[in-house]
Amino acid sequence: MTYIEPAPIKDKENPLESMMSRFDKAAELLGISDEMYHILKVPRKQVVVGLPVTMDNGQIKVFEGYRVIHSTILGPAKGGIRFDMAVNIDEVRALAAWMTWKCAVVDIPYGGAKGGIACNPRTMSAGEIERLMRAYTLSMLDVFGPDKDIPAPDMGTGPREMAWLMDEYSKAMGMTVHGVVTGKPLVLGGSLGRTEATGRGVTVSALAAMEKMRINPYRATAAVQGFGNVGMFAASLMHERGVTVQAISDISGGYFNARGIDIEDAMKYRAANGGIMEGYKEADKITNEELLSLQVDVLVPAAKEDVITHDNAAYIQAKMIVEGANGPTSASADDIINEKGIMVVPDILANAGGVTVSYFEWVQNRIGYKWNLERINRRSDRIMKDAFENVYATSQKYQVNMRLAAYIVAIDKVASTYKYRGGY
Ligand code: NAD
Repeated sequence: MTYIEPAPIKDKENPLESMMSRFDKAAELLGISDEMYHILKVPRKQVVVGLPVTMDNGQIKVFEGYRVIHSTILGPAKGGIRFDMAVNIDEVRALAAWMTWKCAVVDIPYGGAKGGIACNPRTMSAGEIERLMRAYTLSMLDVFGPDKDIPAPDMGTGPREMAWLMDEYSKAMGMTVHGVVTGKPLVLGGSLGRTEATGRGVTVSALAAMEKMRINPYRATAAVQGFGNVGMFAASLMHERGVTVQAISDISGGYFNARGIDIEDAMKYRAANGGIMEGYKEADKITNEELLSLQVDVLVPAAKEDVITHDNAAYIQAKMIVEGANGPTSASADDIINEKGIMVVPDILANAGGVTVSYFEWVQNRIGYKWNLERINRRSDRIMKDAFENVYATSQKYQVNMRLAAYIVAIDKVASTYKYRGGY
């Protein structure tokens, strides 16, 4: 049997530490007591399980799985399940807190959670992954529940894994329980609109920020880093709303066209080219680093964490950064960006469209009715726009940037709810 030791948390500019330092700043600005600070910082529940799984070669391998519930003050906990070798309890703990703030910013009735298993799904067969997912679900039977803790996909997991989770949980309960998990395939109670939801929310945030900065979308330019789920739909919807998307990029590099990239054409190219833009000829090739420093109105980092750092923040020329990815800007870059007067729509606000439509999936499962796409889009746009306006008003009130304002909104909401509910 092989015991898999979880990897230590990496110590360079860590996006989770960046999140914590922003939380600390916002808590200080709000003037919350030491008592409340600790109530908000310490997770409510942390579960670590050993999962013995029979591999295809007949050997049993024990995996370590985690679930951390950071808060259930606003409602049942919500958060993804990550399959990655680097998963460890510290990371899961921080990501769970991140979910609490994200749900609170967009005012959906959820607390925050996160789960994960230290494993490498790329080296495992579908059967091995299925057995692992089912073992994890069984060991979390008293943690998960449509009224307690509702998982979702995250790095390394998707609709297939959520279907196994739902099935295993349902078998154990002796009935079909759709609402125990979101991000399911459509036929299993998944929601219309979920695939585009995060990119759509990014677009709503970008348009709202343009309105504040008096930028006409029809005259605006944008650059989008990362042409995956979030970046692709953000680029496509911004393009649809009149914005000239001059650059896109993915792991193969950046693609620039001053007259604008035909996003529909780029999406077709990507689909026919194994999900990658390599070899795209309708634009000039640039690097991902060059994309970040383009003179555009809107920069959307939608690839990965930690791309705008102390080292390159000074070169950014965009008027606003709308964070599609989680943690794309390190805390040490914040000050430089602020000084340059760049508006940042922070990740916990800008990319919350995904969790919002996950919430809709849960609502539809619970009422046993399917909403059409038009209703889902209209309602999620409303939630995103209202959240933006609330954060913007808070930034004016406290005279702080949008990122701190988003944390202030979230912390204030959770702290004041806690006061009403009370402790022991
Ligand atoms: P994805 O895997 O679909 O797409 C990622 C894209 O980024 C791909 O085009 C990939 O080639 C590109 N990429 C990877 N490494 C890169 C690099 N070093 N430089 C440039 N491009 C690179 O992932 P996604 O679902 O679009 O998620 C992107 C980010 O958004 C992640 O930070 C994720 O946590 C965050 N996010 C996603 C959702 C969602 O609903 N999918 C919700 C909230 C936040």
